[in-house]
Parts: sequence; C-alpha cells; structure tokens
Amino acid sequence: MTDPDILMPAPMADAVIAALDARFVLHRLWEQADPAACLASVGPRIRGMAVSTLAGRVDAASFDALPALEIVANFGVGYDNIDAAAAAARGIVVTNTPGVLDEEVADLTIGLLLATLRRIPQADRYVRDGHWPDGSFPLSPTLRGRRIGLLGLGAIGKAVARRLEGFGVAIAYHGRTRQAGVAYDYHDSPVALAAACDVLIAIVPGGAATRHLVDAAVLAALGAEGVFINVARGSVVDQAALVAALRDGTIGGAGLDVFEDEPHVPEELRAMSQVVLLPHIGSASRDTRAAMGQLVVDNLTSWFDGHGAVSPVSVPAGPR
Ligand code: NDP
Repeated sequence: MTDPDILMPAPMADAVIAALDARFVLHRLWEQADPAACLASVGPRIRGMAVSTLAGRVDAASFDALPALEIVANFGVGYDNIDAAAAAARGIVVTNTPGVLDEEVADLTIGLLLATLRRIPQADRYVRDGHWPDGSFPLSPTLRGRRIGLLGLGAIGKAVARRLEGFGVAIAYHGRTRQAGVAYDYHDSPVALAAACDVLIAIVPGGAATRHLVDAAVLAALGAEGVFINVARGSVVDQAALVAALRDGTIGGAGLDVFEDEPHVPEELRAMSQVVLLPHIGSASRDTRAAMGQLVVDNLTSWFDGHGAVSPVSVPAGPR
C-alpha cells in the first residue's frame, strides 16, 4: 500500500517535517509556486493535515477541497483555527496537543503576572536606558493581598492555580459550570468574578463561544487598581474596550500574551507604560514545542497505523 498523503499548509518545526517526510508523502503547500494548482492536483489524495495557527482557518471550504481527508492534527491545545464541528459532520478527526504544555504555559502566566504587577520589563528598560543614577525606579503595585480570578479553570487554569497557592493569595474562578471537588470560590459570570477580584487571568479557549467574554462591563467591574492578564486568545477580550479601559484608568494595568490581530498590536497599546506585551509565547520553550510537534507526528502515525488518534478533541453536540 502507498504511504498516505499529508498536507502541511504552512511551515512547522524541522523535526516535525523530517518525521512526517520519513513516514508519509508530505506536501509542503507554502513551498509551491502555485498553491491553488497544487491543491487542485493533490487535494483528492490528501488523507491527513498537519496544521498550526500559521495555516490560517481550516473550515468547510478546506474540507471541500480535500474529499479524502480523515484527520487534522493541530499543533497547539487551542484549536479555534479549525472548524471542529464542520470536521465532525464529515467524520474528520481533529487532534490537538493537550497535557504536554500545561505546566509551561502556567509558568509563563505567573511570569507575566509578576512582570505586570512589579513592572519588571519597565525596570529593566530603566536600567538599560541609564536612568538609575537619576533616581529610584517608581514603586510598583504588589501581588501581596491580591485576590486572583481565573476565567477558565481547565488543565492550564488549574496549573496556574496550583502555583498561585504557593504565593498565598486568594483564588476564585468562573467557567460555565461549578466544578465538583474544587475549593476555590466560584462565580457564575465573568462580571461577578471580576467584581470579586483584583487580578483577572483569562485562560479559556478561543472561538465564537468565548468572543469578547471580557468586555467593557467586566473591565469596569475589575476596577481602577485591577489588572487583566490574557494568556487565552485575543478574541476573548474586546480589545478596543481594553485599550479604552487602560487609557481612561478604568483598570490599572494589563499583561497580554495574545491579541486580536496577531502579530499586529495597536500602537496605542504599545505606547502604554502600564502594560506588558508578549508575542504569544505561552508554550514557546524549545522543549515544550518539541513535545507538541512529536504529539502531532504521533497522532498522524497512530491514526494511519490503525490505532486511532492519540489526542482527539471532543466535539460538542451543538454550538457552545
Ligand atoms: P481546557 O479545555 O482544559 O479548559 C478550558 C476551561 O475554559 C474550562 O475550565 C472551561 O470550563 C472554560 N470555558 C470554556 N468555555 C467557556 C465559556 N464559554 N465561558 C466560560 N468558561 C469557559 O483548556 P486548557 O486549559 O488546556 O487551555 C485553555 C486555552 O488556553 C486553550 O484553548 C488556548 O486557547 C489557550 N492557550 C494559550 C496558550 C498561549 O500560548 N498563550 C498556550 C496554550 C493554550 P467550563 O467547561 O466549565 O465552561
């Protein structure tokens, strides 16, 4: 039997490309002079896809062009770049990379939280720019005594909460459902959570169901000393409302790893001194990215060896 044809629309790590090349017939779409012609020619043979957010949206139109597609292996735990419901409707399996990145993203979240509250990047710039001899760096807000609200208490949210316990701060959360066996205070809406907290950390999936979950009302509830940390997806917050809240002093500061239109970050946000901005690096260590890449390879290999997908996503029955 011939090796299955796999489509990779956008570049992935060299190790992933090499592993897939060794086992499959890999089509690197981004290297084609005429990608549309390539798709028209090989599309009917493609049985698997390896994608990351760089590949753009994978939806019903993609599936129309790939009638033999069986599996889409996503590099990342968030798969809002894929229309998973449309895939399920056609019997196409979608896989993601859970488990291997939770601790890494949680580490980064704590780093971003401390960097934002204690203004660590700003202090670094202060030294580099030669301002220290002119006087002490301005005093910062503190983590001490803060109440932290987790918007999303899933695998990563729980890893963040475990770390926060070590800091001796109060922890609360919101999700659509109260979780049995979880001792943290539960709030039944994002606004209620924000009102009860000083720091709001968003770590929910992206997509239509969570679009603008953090809006002007949530930011107002967080308050003037409040800090918003987003390690979820840019779509989770109304970015225009966030910029306005920071500009007007409705909230005190923000630490952002994700944005509405990545890699573009509004100039106004970049000019603000009370925000810390990261280029979507939650899981971006060499080790963790390698583990994520291996899971992409393992999913495709296991599927085409007839053992099923290693980490398929569960697709809800209706819109969520
Ligand atoms: P999980 O699926 O384990 O947890 C998601 C949590 O979000 C659950 O607690 C869920 O609770 C809650 N949730 C889902 N939908 C809603 C909703 N509509 N309203 C309120 N709460 C909701 O996911 P992970 O913890 O593994 O990952 C979360 C997200 O983090 C990923 O989907 C991804 O977008 C993002 N991420 C970002 C990274 C970065 O680099 N910055 C890296 C990795 C992930 P309930 O079901 O009760 O609502």
